[in-house]
Amino acid sequence: MDNFQRRSALFQAFRVSQKQGKLFDFESMTWVPYNTIICYPQSTEELSEVISIAFNNEIPIRTRGAGHALNGSTFPNEGELWVETQKLSKFIIHDSTQITVGSGINLYLINTALSDFGLTLPVINDGFPGPSVGGFISAGGFGIGSSEFGGFWENVDEITVVNGVGKIICVNKSHHDFPWYFGAMGQLGVIAEIKLKVRSSEGRSMILTREYSLNDEDITRTEVLLANALDQAVRNNAQLACDLEAMHYFQTREKTDKRIVDRNPQYWFSFFIEERDVPFVKRQLAALQAHYSEYFIFEPIFEYFIKFRSFNPPLLFSTQNSFYAVGSWWTVLSLNNDVQFALKKYELNISSITQDWGYRRYIQSELPRGPEFYRSYFGTELYSNFNNMKMKYDPNSIINRGTVFR
Ligand SMILES: Cc1cc2nc3c(=O)[nH]c(=O)nc-3n(C[C@H](O)[C@H](O)[C@H](O)COP(=O)(O)OP(=O)(O)OC[C@H]3O[C@@H](n4cnc5c(N)ncnc54)[C@H](O)[C@@H]3O)c2cc1C
Repeated sequence: MDNFQRRSALFQAFRVSQKQGKLFDFESMTWVPYNTIICYPQSTEELSEVISIAFNNEIPIRTRGAGHALNGSTFPNEGELWVETQKLSKFIIHDSTQITVGSGINLYLINTALSDFGLTLPVINDGFPGPSVGGFISAGGFGIGSSEFGGFWENVDEITVVNGVGKIICVNKSHHDFPWYFGAMGQLGVIAEIKLKVRSSEGRSMILTREYSLNDEDITRTEVLLANALDQAVRNNAQLACDLEAMHYFQTREKTDKRIVDRNPQYWFSFFIEERDVPFVKRQLAALQAHYSEYFIFEPIFEYFIKFRSFNPPLLFSTQNSFYAVGSWWTVLSLNNDVQFALKKYELNISSITQDWGYRRYIQSELPRGPEFYRSYFGTELYSNFNNMKMKYDPNSIINRGTVFR
């Protein structure tokens, strides 16, 4: 039995598939050749079994949500087990203030489902249906609604996570480690399900952005499946629970071998800054953007106010105050060598501004990667505290090895 067969046998109860080809990240700037085993746990308990087996057999794992991040952090290294979260798609409406969702569900699709009940998520990413809930938490999360309801982190009540030894842990708002999960890039475990706050949509419902979809047939099919699933749940009048696997038609995760987006690649970089720095940073960005206008088509510089309510996660913004996300959002017409080179240079310029002025960035969702980079970006103290968390929850460092820590 070769290595592949041995691993497939170990995980076969969890819908393994063996795939090979090219794996792309969002916008297809980076890709890796891969030949790996993918497994699809469909409950928290199954996820726990998968990670226990991996731990006992010293098999490192790589967690992939919707693959919307730009930095290659979801690319499996040779010999790693690729854990897909797409079947973690639980969807329960507890009441008009709280839901439980599986970590693999797309945020926009949650909102679509909620809109039938006059409910909405308080905060959602801007733009398109992209991130899964687990990926959004692992980045941090802010966007539409943040000026009133704060960062996504302020709107999460509890995270159920499977740590690096396969143990299921519920971490709620009052747990002292809770803030560390936001922006942790999946280093502390695989998030399985989340209790989220919801609120009344007051007649406003989020419309799906069709532009991002695969094609109209997929949209129609998804909407019909979604409507049926919800009808069923309502008719059964049980707890409004249903597996909304249909939601995954919009997800970008299976982006292998070819691009599935038919629009121009998009990028965005954000500084996290205090209010007093906003005008200065906007001027710096405007000057920088002028240098790159030959390569990038910039949208107006964006500015989000992120209201402080109860805490800011240490990996995102350590000052316990409201803050601003200010940054560039742009498209490119093609990803030729000149443009790729310009992207790397732009990134270095942004890094210099961050360092020179002591700003924070939304580093989890941008291009840089690797332990050396994160050590220098976070600084010795924060990096070391984060490492202590890592050792507490993933002592053998089997999850997402080499991305943030060696
Ligand atoms: C054009 C563009 C626009 C964006 N707009 C916004 C925005 O408005 N607001 C915002 O906050 N962000 C935004 N982002 C960032 C994006 O939301 C994050 O990169 C997010 O992580 C993507 O989620 P995902 O499910 O695709 O995660 P993936 O790309 O699959 O994974 C990202 C990281 O999270 C880890 N991860 C994924 N799922 C889990 C899980 N269940 N448990 C543990 N770890 C997990 C992965 O291992 C990886 O390290 C944007 C990005 C781009 C490129």
